[in-house]
Amino acid sequence: MSAKIISGKEISDSIRGETAQRVASLKKKHDLTPGLATVLVGEDPASQSYVGMKNKAAKEMGIFSRQITLDADIPEAELLGIVEGLNADPDIHGILVQLPLPDHIQESKILLAIEPAKDVDGFHPINVGRLSTGEMEVLAPCTPAGVVQMLLRTGNDPSGKHVVIVGRSNIVGRPMASLLLRKAKGGNATVTVAHSRTPDLGAVTRLADILIVAIGWPELLKADMVRPGAVVIDVGVNRVDDDTRERGYRLVGDVAFDEVKEVAGAITPVPGGVGPMTITMLMSNTVDAAVRQAGIQE
Ligand code: NDP
Repeated sequence: MSAKIISGKEISDSIRGETAQRVASLKKKHDLTPGLATVLVGEDPASQSYVGMKNKAAKEMGIFSRQITLDADIPEAELLGIVEGLNADPDIHGILVQLPLPDHIQESKILLAIEPAKDVDGFHPINVGRLSTGEMEVLAPCTPAGVVQMLLRTGNDPSGKHVVIVGRSNIVGRPMASLLLRKAKGGNATVTVAHSRTPDLGAVTRLADILIVAIGWPELLKADMVRPGAVVIDVGVNRVDDDTRERGYRLVGDVAFDEVKEVAGAITPVPGGVGPMTITMLMSNTVDAAVRQAGIQE
């Protein structure tokens, strides 16, 4: 039997609608316009495209957005000064410094300089710590926060389920585990985290009621590694050569979709699965940040 396809696009569209309504209501009731600053250093085409998509999404939801574009050779001290300025700016509630940064700039130093209350990417060590101690009022990294929404909104509440996460990165695997462990809605799961040193990965992934894969290896996860009926969330985005496409490649996930969909109960596609959720959750985080900074009730 073929799995139910979980459409990240549909879920993302409904969260975007809800976020736009929240923004409209904040403007009307509290004269508050959530503001997001995006900082782009250099001319990396992928970074330019991501920042462009983030600003477009912000505008569509009524969020004020300001893009700061800087030369690739900007000194680190100058970038730190710009971040400090944004920390102090009352019109800006969320700050996003697009990664990666040029080699002469220490990323960790820049991330540490962002005011934690405005850290809408959720990468500041204070926010990482708050999330891992189970705090609720925290800005959580957008991709794993999006995965939680996908589970909840498709009737796959992780509470009481065994969730196996493959990957332990700081942007996906680790915060994913922290979110799922919280004693709260979207949490209360039994969590196993596997990685490149896990022997016999299939023996671990077959235990999962919900399997979340964030490896960065095209179609590594095969059908015989999935328990029949499991929910499979594929975070991976990989380019593979494809001469039949005009651009010469196609995008695939970390899961061998065609075979796994015959075993799983539900599955996310790539593209159109987790991908659309990340920017959407960034906007939701920006609105949460604005509400908390203003100290108001929505
Ligand atoms: P990282 O490279 O930072 O981490 C990959 C993780 O996978 C590591 O923990 C690594 O283990 C583990 N791993 C690698 N190979 C294997 C293997 N053979 N078996 C088991 N575990 C393995 O990647 P990210 O977390 O940043 O990204 C993962 C994927 O998700 C990528 O395809 C990326 O493009 C995608 N992504 C998608 C997003 C979206 O919006 N949809 C957002 C962010 C990422 P170890 O720690 O031992 O090295």
